[in-house]
Amino acid sequence: MSETADVVIIGGGCMGASTAYHLTRRGVTNLILVEREAQLGAGSTGRNAGGVRHQFSSEANITLSIESIGVLERFRDEVGYDIDFHQDGYLFLLSRPEHVAIFRRNVELQRRLGIAVDWLDPAGAASLAPGLGVDGVTAATFCARDGIADPNGVTMGFARAAQSAGVRVQRETEVTGVRVAADRIAAVETTRGVIETRLVVNAAGPHASLIGRMVELDVPVAPYRRHIFIAQSPAPGLWERRDAALVPSSRIMVIDFETTFYFHREGAGVLFGMSDPDEPSGFDTTVRWDFLDEVTRVAIRRLPALADAAISHAWAGLYEMTPDAMPIIGPVDQLRGFYVIAGFSGHGFQHSPAAGRILADLIVGRDPGLDVRPFRFGRFAQGALQPEANVV
Ligand SMILES: Cc1cc2nc3c(=O)[nH]c(=O)nc-3n(C[C@H](O)[C@H](O)[C@H](O)COP(=O)(O)OP(=O)(O)OC[C@H]3O[C@@H](n4cnc5c(N)ncnc54)[C@H](O)[C@@H]3O)c2cc1C
Repeated sequence: MSETADVVIIGGGCMGASTAYHLTRRGVTNLILVEREAQLGAGSTGRNAGGVRHQFSSEANITLSIESIGVLERFRDEVGYDIDFHQDGYLFLLSRPEHVAIFRRNVELQRRLGIAVDWLDPAGAASLAPGLGVDGVTAATFCARDGIADPNGVTMGFARAAQSAGVRVQRETEVTGVRVAADRIAAVETTRGVIETRLVVNAAGPHASLIGRMVELDVPVAPYRRHIFIAQSPAPGLWERRDAALVPSSRIMVIDFETTFYFHREGAGVLFGMSDPDEPSGFDTTVRWDFLDEVTRVAIRRLPALADAAISHAWAGLYEMTPDAMPIIGPVDQLRGFYVIAGFSGHGFQHSPAAGRILADLIVGRDPGLDVRPFRFGRFAQGALQPEANVV
């Protein structure tokens, strides 16, 4: 079977879906979205913590957040899908003087860009999140408009609206090769046949480097396993005692910056996770249960109620790290027709609305209206890297 399309998007996560949606809004509807799994959003998008924040260290990322959070706030009206967006804030806990110095600069920048961020002492932090342990914490930051949204809802919202506009979605279809002729994209080979196209979008998330290899390009996106655990109260109602709540009742996201331990309410339970600095790069997503002991040691210091909690389930997904923890959004100069939207380095879900919009503008030749140099593919070869510091 051979088909043709103006654009082929490889990967049906939040990035592929957002790009498809925004391209349809710019009149590009002869488009095929190819996803190897049976469902969209089954990769990193379906395994993330749903966190959405303005609190980044780089102006480029804060700009992506301002636009994306605006879209998430209007998502139901604009895209027509419910995304369960709760803006109960993000609370960063700081214990080390060097982190306090970095966050002072971050807060200054965030405020200059119009974000309302509070600088708190430990007592102020504890008052926002009942049950929190602030032992060793010297300062904290809080932004009330940060929050938690449903990654599946965002992906399905974008994908359904794109499909309504004519986008063809091919599930259970793996891209196995990309053909190049005369230095430009010619076709995409899949397990269901060949799609002739002159424009390919690499939205394969942590697998973006493998798609790059198909056209002999080094796309510097490395996969790293990250775990999430879900804890349940040992007895119904125990955590919500009126006189002394043991966990926050809101969905506030708390991040202990020194250890990267984070948690937020997830239904009746608590979702928590932490990075393992010793984890090597790889595609393995099996749960390492021995890591739970390590996380628990930190977890009970910051949320003592977790000491008696039952762990109901856990999963692991892949961060998609670039050398500067900044995403790649845009064309690849040395190969005409090849675009990348990948490498969001563990915080991409929240930036998918703006990232897909920017890429769609670049594809149709519109001015994206912001400085896209921090996202350029070519920056790695030039060595002009300005890393994002606020990665957990
Ligand atoms: C544990 C964890 C917690 C996280 N927490 C947050 C958070 O709180 N907030 C936040 O903003 N971000 C978070 N992230 C990061 C976020 O999940 C990612 O940045 C985002 O989902 C990347 O989306 P994507 O569309 O680029 O990748 P993906 O969702 O992985 O989509 C890529 C798709 O490409 C498909 N694919 C790959 N190769 C092929 C092929 N050859 N052919 C066809 N299809 C292919 C895959 O099946 C996949 O569905 C977290 C990630 C993890 C792992």
